[in-house]
Amino acid sequence: METTHGTETKKKAELATGSTTAMRVIDVSSIASFFALQIWLGYRISAHHPLALWPMFSLTILAYLFADFISGFFHWMADTWGTVNTPLAGKVFVRPFREHHVDEMAITRHDFFEVNGANCLISIPFMTAAHFLPLDSLWGRYAAFFVAMWLLGIFCTNQFHKWAHLEERPAYVEWMQRHRLILSHEHHQVHHQAPHTRYYCITSGWLNEPLYRSRFFPVLERIVTRVTGMVPRKDDAGWLGIAPARADAALESAHLPAEAAPAIDKA
Ligand SMILES: [Zn+2]
Ligand SMILES: [Zn+2]
Repeated sequence: METTHGTETKKKAELATGSTTAMRVIDVSSIASFFALQIWLGYRISAHHPLALWPMFSLTILAYLFADFISGFFHWMADTWGTVNTPLAGKVFVRPFREHHVDEMAITRHDFFEVNGANCLISIPFMTAAHFLPLDSLWGRYAAFFVAMWLLGIFCTNQFHKWAHLEERPAYVEWMQRHRLILSHEHHQVHHQAPHTRYYCITSGWLNEPLYRSRFFPVLERIVTRVTGMVPRKDDAGWLGIAPARADAALESAHLPAEAAPAIDKA
């Protein structure tokens, strides 16, 4: 088994290679297509009788909360199940999230397109589906508006996450973070404490405390383990500097507050 230090050095070297031209083309065209679909949908919705203000406001808040939940859910999936060697998902999904625990500042070295391209690519099928909603009916237009706002929240997620790691932040970002409108540095650092099993949500972070207090993810993990037999974070023992024999005990205490899990916090 590789040492934590060895793994860390290797991961940082891989990250330093940056994105290829092909990845750049995909990132730029995904962002362009995503916003073209958003603007076109906005135009198609507004071509009908205008939507009322208060339902639009309520749906925007709901959509923003849903984006926060989805950000946490996928982050939890990537942090918890499978390995970097899992076919397909390992490379594109598991690896970026687990590497982020090893080198949390790498995201700050990625530019706008590298940070936001992937989420736009994933969102395009949903954005396209929203165009097939019956926009001539009122409920169809509200549903399309909700999907558009939700995906806008998904688009913002990686950017907000990057800002939460920046040392020098623009004043308007500081302001939004201070007012808890977006993910703040202090709030997100809770997740960056090993073993990284708390505060998965990275859009606004509004749902982190309720999900933590209700033990939503630990309960979900027990259910998944019971049904499938998979062990959460099974391959993370080496990364966290825990001897395999102690990994099970570490997994047991992983959901306790940091003060109550001293053995695994010193990784
Ligand atoms: Zn994580
Ligand atoms: Zn982070």
